[in-house]
Amino acid sequence: MPVLPRSLEIQSEISAIRRDIHAHPELAYEETRTSDIVAAKLAEWGLEVTRGLGKTGVVGTLRKGNKVKSIGLRADMDCLPMDELNGFEHRSQNPGRMHACGHDGHTAMLLGAAKLLSEKRDFEGAVHFIFQPAEEGGGGARAMIEDGLFDKFPCDAVFAIHNKPGVPLGHIVTRGGPLLAAADRWDIRITGKGGHAAYPHTSADPMVAGASIVTSLQSIVSRNIDPLEATVVTVGFFKAGSAYNVIPGEAHIGGTTRTTTPENRALVRRRIQDICDGAARMYGVKVEMEHKPGYPPTVNNADRARFAIDVAAGVCGADKVNGNARQVMGAEDFSYMLEKVPGAMVWLGNGGGADAFNLHSSRYDFNDMAIPFGISFFVRTVERFLGEKAQA
Ligand SMILES: [Zn+2]
Ligand SMILES: [Zn+2]
Repeated sequence: MPVLPRSLEIQSEISAIRRDIHAHPELAYEETRTSDIVAAKLAEWGLEVTRGLGKTGVVGTLRKGNKVKSIGLRADMDCLPMDELNGFEHRSQNPGRMHACGHDGHTAMLLGAAKLLSEKRDFEGAVHFIFQPAEEGGGGARAMIEDGLFDKFPCDAVFAIHNKPGVPLGHIVTRGGPLLAAADRWDIRITGKGGHAAYPHTSADPMVAGASIVTSLQSIVSRNIDPLEATVVTVGFFKAGSAYNVIPGEAHIGGTTRTTTPENRALVRRRIQDICDGAARMYGVKVEMEHKPGYPPTVNNADRARFAIDVAAGVCGADKVNGNARQVMGAEDFSYMLEKVPGAMVWLGNGGGADAFNLHSSRYDFNDMAIPFGISFFVRTVERFLGEKAQA
């Protein structure tokens, strides 16, 4: 089965919504206009609408029959704090705001799926359409979960689409297991004893301890992590000292780590701490490490990913689906939902080939031609997960 005929019929209606949202981008937790549009459309199509989860988040629910089985579909609504350089009619009207990650398209496609499923209702159970705020660093998914998302709307599975520039239109790409990385930050503060450069034996030098720590951190990826599991430890700054002839009293080192499994994430954190503790003892200084967790790794459930690949093959054709995508070291807060509910994220081709403007480029735009594929993927995912007779 290719894209659903009805998804083509509503394509212009949905792309008009998409362009309207694109022209009026809103930052994290400020998506009031966008969530008003989302809530109004969902209500118009007869869905139960719940607002206020994660401040501006919206959940639309469609139920049929008495089965308790349920599924969640997620889209993100926020834009990025940047200027748009495109000149087309639907370019951003808000200076310093741009939908450069295609969340306008994600929101519109999920609305399209809600419209189609409200018309057809070819399923038994509950479908929760989750429109989250603040994906771009604000942890909107976590905010919705903390406000009781999965207590109020239990889900047996959760699925999401992110568009991918450079992947051909009508193609879907994903993988079971880690898809995106966890992105954490850390600060290391070293306190020694400053003094005269000519009398080092009377001081405790935080510079030497810090240099040793920076070098030792390089051994985490090379000596502690499985070589087949992508991991990054990068020192971003090392601040200490101000004079040629003074041993400083303090040093401050900071950096970021990227890991693709919860185990490696914990391991890297533990090893950074070990290295700091070791250096403190070795150099007679005080070393404090502060770990600042960012988004967890986005890990697709193996069964759900297989299911999504199968649905995608039905919509796009098996030759246009790659179920063995390369994982990337970016991060995505759908990861918080995947920690709670088995599910999968897929990447939907935004077209454009190798020279496509990438996500977060000031010349990027979501491709309206991808809309029928996204809608059809969501609709078929629901129909198949909530048990229809005919298979795709
Ligand atoms: Zn983004
Ligand atoms: Zn994004």
